[in-house]
Amino acid sequence: MAGFQGKSVLVLGGSRGIGAAIVRRFATEGAAVTFTYAGSRDAAEQLARETGATAAMTDSADRDAVIARVRESGPLDVLVVNAGVGAFGDPLEQDPDDVDRLIRINVNAPYHAAVEAARRMPEGGRIIVIGSVNGDRIPFPGLSAYAMSKSALQGMARGLARDFGPRGITVNVVQPGPIDTDMNPADGPMKDIQHAVMALKRHGRPEDVAGLVTWLAGPEASFVTGAMHTIDGGFGA
Ligand code: NDP
Repeated sequence: MAGFQGKSVLVLGGSRGIGAAIVRRFATEGAAVTFTYAGSRDAAEQLARETGATAAMTDSADRDAVIARVRESGPLDVLVVNAGVGAFGDPLEQDPDDVDRLIRINVNAPYHAAVEAARRMPEGGRIIVIGSVNGDRIPFPGLSAYAMSKSALQGMARGLARDFGPRGITVNVVQPGPIDTDMNPADGPMKDIQHAVMALKRHGRPEDVAGLVTWLAGPEASFVTGAMHTIDGGFGA
């Protein structure tokens, strides 16, 4: 597979889980891939050795660092913003600093990264942000801050799609349901409650999400923009 030969791809948050699967897929298809990490240096270096991608330490909670990384990596054909964190629990008990950090990583970073990438992105450029089915559906308590952050990406993508559409740049959100990663292990304590509301009673794989991301980045998706693409085993059905 060499569908992305000659293309420059930046994945924010690529050291583990869904992001690592996205890095692997683009690298396998011939792209020049840079990915960022914050805490998982060993995993990032291992992935860089395995794929030939370039790993760069950049904390998505640091707006200026994110903007600088996007600028240094550009011009980009594809930007994928995958880095995200959860802050789950009773809102009355949550530390407001945790909620604000989540907003910096899950909302502020995608917005500023997308805008910075668009400055030098060529026609045909693709901006893809990893949201969540929780942007649409919140069947359990304890998800308010996380869901708020993922819903915000919907308005962002719709708006930026119109801002950058005249230049042939598309902006889309991929909304996974339960995917087997460190954040949400398939054998974790939440599995039964999640599977109970799903049409398919299992977690998805990071590679499933990577497949949708690369489709959105490829030529078949050139007419797809400002849209939410849910891949959730029927969690939101
Ligand atoms: P993981 O926790 O398994 O991995 C998160 C990735 O994001 C890691 O590579 C991590 O890097 C990176 N990251 C986190 N915080 C930062 C930061 N401050 N700066 C830079 N990178 C950061 O999560 P998943 O793979 O499960 O999730 C990936 C995305 O998919 C997230 O946006 C998440 O909200 C979303 N999602 C996941 C679902 C699931 O069920 N797994 C369901 C719906 C959405 P490092 O370890 O180096 O800090």
